Amino acid sequence: MQITETRISLVSRSNSRLRAYASVTFDDVFVVRDIRIIEGKRGLFVAMPSKKMQRNCLQCGFKNAVTNKFCGSCGTKLDPLEKPEEMQDAPSQQHRDLAHPIKTEFRDYIQEKVIEEYKNKEASESKQ
Ligand SMILES: [Zn+2]
Repeated sequence: MQITETRISLVSRSNSRLRAYASVTFDDVFVVRDIRIIEGKRGLFVAMPSKKMQRNCLQCGFKNAVTNKFCGSCGTKLDPLEKPEEMQDAPSQQHRDLAHPIKTEFRDYIQEKVIEEYKNKEASESKQ
């Protein structure tokens, strides 16, 4: 599988580590949008599109973040998570990837391509 097109939309928010969104086309037939390019402590990395995990309050049905201990709407105590110790170690568990590469090599390939396109885009924008 090859990346046949990459589109970058730069994000200019100084208070955010998010640098850009990418939409990537594979083999001219499949596109994945909302891939994020993030400035991490060890440089740029690419995050796959993800969904924020939520759970409904049993009392009022309000959608709460999975880390909430009490309902944000009615204050009802929410059941403890099944594996709370895991949640603490991995805050990313709050988000679940909607689409992601299974193999590390392919993840690296996507990351390399997207960051390269991001740098090109950033360079061409700053010339203007
Ligand atoms: Zn509630």
